[in-house]
Amino acid sequence: MEMKKSYDVIVIGGGPAGGQTARNLAKRGHQVLLVEKYASFADNNFSSAGMTLEPMEEFDLPKEIVGAYWNDLEIQCTKNSYVWRSTEPKGVVLNFQKLREFLAQETQKFGGDVLMGYRYVKKEVTSEGIEVQLAHSRTKETLSFDAKLVVDATGPLRKVMFDEKEEQPEMTLGSGTEYEIQVEQEIYDEYKDKLLFFLGHKWAIKGYSWIFPMENRILKVGAGKTHIKSKDQENTDKTTRKITEKIIEEYLGTKDYKIIDMHGGIIRYSPGLNDVFYKNRVLGVGDAISAINPRGGEGIRYAMQSADLACEYIDEFITKGGADFSDYQKVWKKRKGFKWRLSELSARRMYSRYSDEQVENRIQFFHNRFSTDDIIASLFNFKYNKVFFRFFQMLALKTAFALRGKKF
Ligand SMILES: Cc1cc2nc3c(=O)[nH]c(=O)nc-3n(C[C@H](O)[C@H](O)[C@H](O)COP(=O)(O)OP(=O)(O)OC[C@H]3O[C@@H](n4cnc5c(N)ncnc54)[C@H](O)[C@@H]3O)c2cc1C
Repeated sequence: MEMKKSYDVIVIGGGPAGGQTARNLAKRGHQVLLVEKYASFADNNFSSAGMTLEPMEEFDLPKEIVGAYWNDLEIQCTKNSYVWRSTEPKGVVLNFQKLREFLAQETQKFGGDVLMGYRYVKKEVTSEGIEVQLAHSRTKETLSFDAKLVVDATGPLRKVMFDEKEEQPEMTLGSGTEYEIQVEQEIYDEYKDKLLFFLGHKWAIKGYSWIFPMENRILKVGAGKTHIKSKDQENTDKTTRKITEKIIEEYLGTKDYKIIDMHGGIIRYSPGLNDVFYKNRVLGVGDAISAINPRGGEGIRYAMQSADLACEYIDEFITKGGADFSDYQKVWKKRKGFKWRLSELSARRMYSRYSDEQVENRIQFFHNRFSTDDIIASLFNFKYNKVFFRFFQMLALKTAFALRGKKF
């Protein structure tokens, strides 16, 4: 590949946020370089990539990157299982590798460059712009490029925004493990149309576990634990691996499965949304600005939304110059801030504070009162209108009963 020495924008990190930023900017005609530290997108295929249908249209994604469509949502608690059914597809499980490959290919199609197998090492802000040094992940060979702006799309670690020893805002850490397994056709058929989540103390610890369908006979089975201390991550990974194996062997009831891939990853967000969105010619997108929904762990859609919003301001910065990007942060927080905080509060209660019985009661409450669309809106889309409505309806009933001296 013929590389340029200088670009308008260098995007570090080829995840959904980085890929979408590079794709969007290249489409607008800007000179963009997308850098990913792994040599292949198959190497860190960590995300379960379950989501609703809307992002397919929102980001013009092709059906070739879909692993499976799902109709039903099921939550298995310690005692009972709660199912929200649908007769039509409500969402997809993407092939995460194919999604990132697609975004990188689109970047190239629109004239951008993609550099695989190089990791970001350091940056230096100059009077004209910013210089970035990269090193080959295996050979350590170094390369340097100039740019007007660098985008930090390195996800939870925020490698570009913060230098190695620089202090970061306080962060909440979660960690997840996932096995991609090949199972008998009979078992696959039972799980092929639904997203199944596990909550409560039997099948999950301080978090949730899951079984998602992928291509024929392939299931994604995993477990995540939230609110851990970074020094506990190794133990957490052992625990989530154990839970995953327990679900495969006891819940799916099979020893006859083939592991296709074992992967995992972390989520790391600022509980007060105190992320740095822009500093010294570095702009953050995706998990690097805590875009992930803390309750459901859904991060791909929000990573890509933050990328598209950032591109509006990057475009203005390149064509007109002088932007300080404070509006990017303001608009993002205005759109997501309040709902995001509610989601984080609810995650903290559900995963870290509730007893097993409280979890069961809460899910039963939702199951009795919410339709499939309501639960999807609340779990995936940060939409809480129905939840508030039911809550205030219940409060009003309780008050009315109390005023009449009756028990609710
Ligand atoms: C186990 C697990 C399951 C999940 N399941 C779902 C799900 O079902 N649905 C959903 O929507 N979300 C899910 N998420 C969350 C979702 O995957 C993330 O929110 C999303 O990937 C964030 O995108 P991003 O581009 O901001 O960061 P990332 O996807 O983390 O991408 C960052 C990229 O930067 C690269 N990078 C890092 N450091 C450097 C460096 N120094 N130089 C160059 N490149 C670098 C990384 O290799 C990576 O490719 C899950 C997360 C985990 C951990």
